[in-house]
Amino acid sequence: MKFFLVLIGPPGSGKGTQAAKLSRWLRLPALSAGELLRQEIKSNTSWGQEIKPLLAKGELVPNPIIEAIIAKRLQKEDAVRGAIFDGWPRAKTQLNYFVNNFLNRPQTKVLAILIMVSDKEVMNRLSGRRVCLLCGANYHILYHPPQQPGICDRCGGRLYIRPDDKPAVIKKRLSQYHELTAPLIGFFRRQKN
Ligand code: AMP
Repeated sequence: MKFFLVLIGPPGSGKGTQAAKLSRWLRLPALSAGELLRQEIKSNTSWGQEIKPLLAKGELVPNPIIEAIIAKRLQKEDAVRGAIFDGWPRAKTQLNYFVNNFLNRPQTKVLAILIMVSDKEVMNRLSGRRVCLLCGANYHILYHPPQQPGICDRCGGRLYIRPDDKPAVIKKRLSQYHELTAPLIGFFRRQKN
C-alpha cells in the first residue's frame, strides 16, 4: 500500500514546516514542488534556465516540467511507500496527471490537508521570511529570528530573502493561489477515497 499526502494552503501558510514534521512522523519524504524547482535553478539545468524568470515573477511553471521533476524525485528509494506533496498539485490543470498516477491507482491511499491562513498573515510572514542559502532552514525576523542576524543557527550559512518574497510578487502569488489553487479544495472534498 502506498500513501500520498497533499498539503494545500496559500504561500507562507507553513506547508513546508508541516511537511517536514509529517515526514519525520510518517517516515515519508516531503516533496516541495517549489524547492525541487529552486534546485533546478541552483544547478543551472536547462529546466532551471527556463523556469527562473517564472519563479521570480511568482508564475506557475509549465505542467510537463513540474510533472517530470516530481516523477524523477519519486524514483528515489525513499518514496517506495509514498510521499508528502507540498505545493503540488496546485491548479486544476495539474489534476489530470495527479488523478491518473495517484488518485485512481490500486493499493494507493490519498489524503489532502488544507491549511488556512489569511492574506494579511501571509503578507506578514513572507515579507519577514529569511532562508538559509546552504541548508534551506527558514527564519522570520520577528517570529523566529536567528541568534545572529543574517546567519543560520543550524549550519552557519548566510540567510537571504527569496526573490519571490518581495511584496509585489507575494501579491501575485496570493492571487494565483485564490484563482488557481483554491478551486482544488472543492475537488478534494468531493473525493470518497
Ligand atoms: P513555493 O516554494 O511553494 O512558494 O513555490 C515557489 C514557486 O515555484 C511558485 O511561485 C511557482 O512559480 C513555482 N511552483 C511551485 N509549485 C508549482 C506547481 N505545482 N506548478 C507550477 N509552478 C510551481
